[in-house]
Amino acid sequence: MVAPEHPFQTLTGMRDLVEPDTGRRRALVATFAERAERAGYGEIRPPLLEELGVFLRMGEATDVVSKEMYEFEDKDGRRVALRPELTAGVVRAFVQHHPPTPWKVWYSGTSFRRERPAAGRYRAFDQVGVEVLGVDDPDLDVEVVALAWGSVTDLGLRRVRLVVNSLGDHEDRQRYTDAVATFLRSRRADLSEAARATTERNPLRVLDTKRPEDRAVVADAPSISDYLSPESAAHLERVLAGLRAVGVPVEQDDRLVRGLDYYRRTTFELVADSLDAAQNAVGGGGRYDGLAEDLGGPPTDGIGFALGVDRLLLACDAEGVFPPADVVLDAFVVDTAGGETARDLVHELREAGLAADRRYGGGSLKSQMKSADRSGARWALLVGSDELDAGVVTVRDLRSGAEQVAVPRADVVADLRRRSSEHREDTGT
Ligand code: AMP
Repeated sequence: MVAPEHPFQTLTGMRDLVEPDTGRRRALVATFAERAERAGYGEIRPPLLEELGVFLRMGEATDVVSKEMYEFEDKDGRRVALRPELTAGVVRAFVQHHPPTPWKVWYSGTSFRRERPAAGRYRAFDQVGVEVLGVDDPDLDVEVVALAWGSVTDLGLRRVRLVVNSLGDHEDRQRYTDAVATFLRSRRADLSEAARATTERNPLRVLDTKRPEDRAVVADAPSISDYLSPESAAHLERVLAGLRAVGVPVEQDDRLVRGLDYYRRTTFELVADSLDAAQNAVGGGGRYDGLAEDLGGPPTDGIGFALGVDRLLLACDAEGVFPPADVVLDAFVVDTAGGETARDLVHELREAGLAADRRYGGGSLKSQMKSADRSGARWALLVGSDELDAGVVTVRDLRSGAEQVAVPRADVVADLRRRSSEHREDTGT
């Protein structure tokens, strides 16, 4: 066996995220939060670790619960799990704190699923999303779906489609599930081994299949639209009409079913056509009921969605949009006269709200200037023995090639502030 280069490495499917990726994630969350707050949503941060039972309510027949959860017994002998998604924790919080309804919350954070890693599929991944508890009105579905859509278009993504369907009410879904199971059993011979097993556990999941042989069978499966009650059909019509009225382009797909058991009526997915088909769902959500009740609360209507941050950013890369913001340093201090000026001046500049850096360990003018150029700073502030004797700092524009100027040491912070705000006005940043 070859010894690993380092004794400790990240676990399979887990990553260290660093700049510029981390900065881009911050910007994405800020963009999302801004949109959600404009629509009246407040932030919630449920814990990463909950009692296992909270997540079991998602449906024990789902892969997320049956195969992918990081669950263990803690030192008090409790069965606990790292959250595989946030909806269950948010609903647990709703039941625990009984806030007034409607309760509109947004979140961002990491979830954990022990899936087989691939591009766009990780074992720790970030999501942003919303949940609304306590409103049964199709116009809220319009608000929530439009919010998901707007969050994606805010990033500049164009090659994303919004697909909506209805799973009907509990009875519709049950009748439809039975019909799908009967159909799939009649075509058993044409199905993959995996799809046959899924047929017995969770027949609707088979409709979600990515395998070509299964897809061919699924194409002939019964359609949910034939199983919707008049109320469910009217609900779906109102949602679709509402989305069209507010200008959200929507496709209806009666093959769309979502993995988790608690969904009913409106269900939707955002699909990025720029990504590989196996990982092209950048987000999804829908209406659910029964979850609050399952968690010990009163019957409460809920609706929400989660967008996968990792996949959204992959889609942004594929479309060349939402680039990482440049880190803009205002000043880089180059001190070849003992270092005291660099020590004090970077501090003063930073306290004055400017972005400033320097190099440690001294070095020649040439080597320090190299660091200044590499830093991307707009201005170099130079202090050699001549400047020190004269009580000035030389300000050199590293971008424009303009004549450098000597500024009295006492005025240099104010001078830089003025230059930087003029520059920001000019560039509109
Ligand atoms: P789900 O709760 O499965 O509907 O997930 C919502 C969104 O989170 C999906 O549409 C994906 O964009 C993202 N997502 C789910 N699982 C993963 C994963 N293992 N790695 C990266 N993103 C994921």
